[in-house]
Amino acid sequence: MPLVVQKFGGTSVANIERISRVAQRVAKTYDQGNDVIVILSAMSGVTDGLIELAHKAAEEPDKRELDALLATGEQTTAALLAIMLKSMGYQAQSLLGHQAEVVTDSDYGNARILEIGAKRLKHLIDRKNIVVVAGFQGYDIKGNITTLGRGGSDTSAVAIAAAVNADVCEIFTDVDGVYTADPNVCPKARKLKTITYDEMLNMASLGAKVLQIRSVGFAKKYNIPVHVRSSFNEEEGTMVVNEDSGMEQLLVSGVTHDKKQARVTLIKVPDQPGIAANIFSPISEAGILVDMIIQNTRKGGKTDMTFTVPKGDFKRTMEITKKVALQIGAEEVLGDTDIAMVSVVGVGMKNHSGVASVMFNTLARENINILMIGTSEIRISCVIEEKYTELAVRVLHTAFGLDAEE
Ligand code: ADP
Ligand code: ASP
Ligand code: MG
Repeated sequence: MPLVVQKFGGTSVANIERISRVAQRVAKTYDQGNDVIVILSAMSGVTDGLIELAHKAAEEPDKRELDALLATGEQTTAALLAIMLKSMGYQAQSLLGHQAEVVTDSDYGNARILEIGAKRLKHLIDRKNIVVVAGFQGYDIKGNITTLGRGGSDTSAVAIAAAVNADVCEIFTDVDGVYTADPNVCPKARKLKTITYDEMLNMASLGAKVLQIRSVGFAKKYNIPVHVRSSFNEEEGTMVVNEDSGMEQLLVSGVTHDKKQARVTLIKVPDQPGIAANIFSPISEAGILVDMIIQNTRKGGKTDMTFTVPKGDFKRTMEITKKVALQIGAEEVLGDTDIAMVSVVGVGMKNHSGVASVMFNTLARENINILMIGTSEIRISCVIEEKYTELAVRVLHTAFGLDAEE
């Protein structure tokens, strides 16, 4: 019998009516002769609300307790769906992260899945239950509740699909699939029939939040077909797959944006060996991920150093950097959270020159100033002022010939 994993995101379970629609959909899949495991997110806005509450309780909430709090969002929806399915006459049971044996490391707020036992899960499935698992949560070897990072229910779903050897992992969300750019920002974005794991990894790492990046990593590693589709209609969505020989090899396959970064600049740093190590070691020791770094040399043996970090780590980064600035004799530390990164992505650009100049010219024509530039073989990213994000995505989408036909 086919085994289907179905994950429903926050907007799909935003209220009782929507959870009831999820129940109908899950029941239908079960009635069609599938075994079904459902992974749920919290109702949309609930995780944000809980984070806000915790910050009212303490300026820097304890990370262990914060995860215990955040996990309640998914506990609520999983129990509600199981209640509904049972009242509809189905055998169903909800499981929390530890009951589904989702073992993680102890990195609260951003824990990684180490293994999934899934014994109880399989047992329930063998006995024809619809199993509803609370997404986003796991537990460490000491039994502490952990969460998997924002958007982590996607990863719960794909990892559980891998653990039970599911035939497909369906990700139900509020858009019809994966598009060439965020369809809520770029009205001319095109829905992709298929996308490869690698391209999806790139898009996810550069801000396309439709799938959490770690979920794509799992899907690739265990070769799980992932179907991203709408929970509001029955249309086929986008298949994320291994190879995609059918897809036209475009120079640029998508445009992404990311408003979750902030920028920090050290002014007039003495230009000496060891300076970068002095600056970035304490930041990395604090567990903060630095993305882009640029260094500009000034006259007189001084240099300016600019880098980006996640907005959530901005305050801590500023504190650390100010301390370092005093030690190394830098003149000033500036910070800026009103920035965004727009990127053009595509394996097709590997052997092509000219993509960067099209990107820079396109932004220049709109008078959008580029604050930072980052490149790799398959992407070019520009940091710009946040207020130009939507405009930049749209003009780049057009410039690279990605617009849907009218
Ligand atoms: P869920 O709550 O279902 O997990 P998310 O909000 O995490 O949903 O992800 C879906 C959102 O991802 C869409 O509403 C869309 O705005 C955004 N998104 C960003 N980039 C893309 C893209 N390239 N294709 C589709 N959706 C995208
Ligand atoms: N509820 C969590 C979040 O908002 C996890 C998820 O929705 O995937 O990030
Ligand atoms: Mg999500």
